[in-house]
Amino acid sequence: MSEKTGASAETERLRRLSDEHSAHNYHPLPIVVAEADGAFVTDVDGRRYLDMLSAYSAVNFGHRNPRLVAAAERQLGRVTLVSRAFDHDQFGPFCAELAALCGKDMVLPMNTGAEAVETALKTARKWGYEVKGVPADQANIVTFVGNFHGRTTTIVSFSTDPVAKASYGPYTPGFRTVPYGDADALRDAMDANTVGVLVEPIQGEAGVLVPPPGYLRAVRDLCDERGALMIADEVQTGLGRTGTTFACEHEDVVPDVYVLGKALGGGIVPVSAVVADTGVLGVYKPGEHGSTFGGNPMACAIAREVIAMLKTGEFQARSRDLGAHLHGRLGALDLGMVREVRGRGLWAGIELNGLARPVSERLMELGVLAKETHDTTLRLAPPLVVERDDLDWALDQLEAALKA
Ligand SMILES: *Cc1c(COP(=O)(O)O)cnc(C)c1O
Repeated sequence: MSEKTGASAETERLRRLSDEHSAHNYHPLPIVVAEADGAFVTDVDGRRYLDMLSAYSAVNFGHRNPRLVAAAERQLGRVTLVSRAFDHDQFGPFCAELAALCGKDMVLPMNTGAEAVETALKTARKWGYEVKGVPADQANIVTFVGNFHGRTTTIVSFSTDPVAKASYGPYTPGFRTVPYGDADALRDAMDANTVGVLVEPIQGEAGVLVPPPGYLRAVRDLCDERGALMIADEVQTGLGRTGTTFACEHEDVVPDVYVLGKALGGGIVPVSAVVADTGVLGVYKPGEHGSTFGGNPMACAIAREVIAMLKTGEFQARSRDLGAHLHGRLGALDLGMVREVRGRGLWAGIELNGLARPVSERLMELGVLAKETHDTTLRLAPPLVVERDDLDWALDQLEAALKA
C-alpha cells in the first residue's frame, strides 16, 4: 500500500516479456504480482495491494487460504492424477458431497467454467432427444442478451458482445437469445423443442446486472410449463459470492442444472462441474463425454475442502454482512460520477458516467486492484475473507480515485 513511485526495471522487463510473447487477448493493469496472501497481493517491487477482483470470484476464500493449501499439500503427497480410467479415493466423496451441497443426485466434473457450460449444453440436448422426445437435431436452447458463459466456439455463438464474437463464425446453431429480465420475451421464445434455458442468476461480466424481483421464479415456472431444463450458470455467482451458497436462493428457486466453477477450485486449480438429478445426468453412458483432467485427485481434494468450508455458512454470512456494509457505502457515494450501483453481497458493479479504466488505474496507484468490465463499469468483488477495516480503507481509496 506504499505510494507508487514508478515501475522498477524488473517490472518493466517482465511486462515487456508478457507484451512481446503472449497473445494480446487481455488488457491487464500494469502490475506484476509476485505473491499473495488472504485479500492482499504483493508485486515484484514489494508493493502491497488489496485485491478487489478475486480473479473474477475464483479466489472467494482468499489467496492461499490455509485450509485449502493444507488440503492441496496433503493430496500432493498422495496422488495427483489417474484420469477417469481408474477410480480414486477422492472422487466418490467429492461427487457425493457436491451433489449434497446442491441438493441433487449427480455430478459431472470438468475443469474450466466454459467446459462445464459446454457439458450442460450437451446434457440438455441429449436429455431433450432421449428423455423429452424432441425430433433429431431440432432442439433449441434459450440464452440472454448480455450473457457471458465462456469463450468456446459454441459459447461465443450465442454471445451478444461483438468483441467476444466477431470473426469466429460459422456459429453453432440451435440458440435463441432474448432480453435478460423480460419473462414475456422468454415465454415467446420457448416452444416444444426448447430443451434448456441457460441463465446467469446475476449477469456478472455484463456488469453485475441483477434481474428484476421475481424473474428467476418466472424462468423456473416457464421451464416447468414448457418441460425445459432450467440451467443456472452459477460459475461466478455461486459458492458464497452473493451472500448465499447459490444466487438462485435469493428467489427460493432450484434450477434443474447447476453449472459451477471458479471458486470450486479454491483459487488453486481449475475445477468445474455440472450438478443435476439422475433423470438428467443419467443420460450418459461410457464414452459419450469426458475429460482427462476432470475429477482428478488434486481437484477433488481441494474442492472437498471448499465444500466443507461452505457448509459452515461462515463465508456466505461474511458476504451478506460485509456486502450490506459495502452497498451502504457505495449507495452514499454522491460524486457526480456514479450513475448506478448494482449487486448483491460482496459484489458490486459501479456504473460510472465516464470511462472505468482510468479509475481502475488510479485505484492501482492507491493500492487497490479492481477491474473495469466493458467501458463504464467498475466491478468490486473482494475475497470473502476481507476484513471490514481493509474494505473500508479500499472504499476510501475508491472515493479518492473517483474525485481525482
Ligand atoms: C467465468 C465464467 C465462465 C467461464 O469460466 P472459465 O473458467 O473462464 O472458462 C462461465 N460462466 C460464467 C458466468 C463466468 O463468470
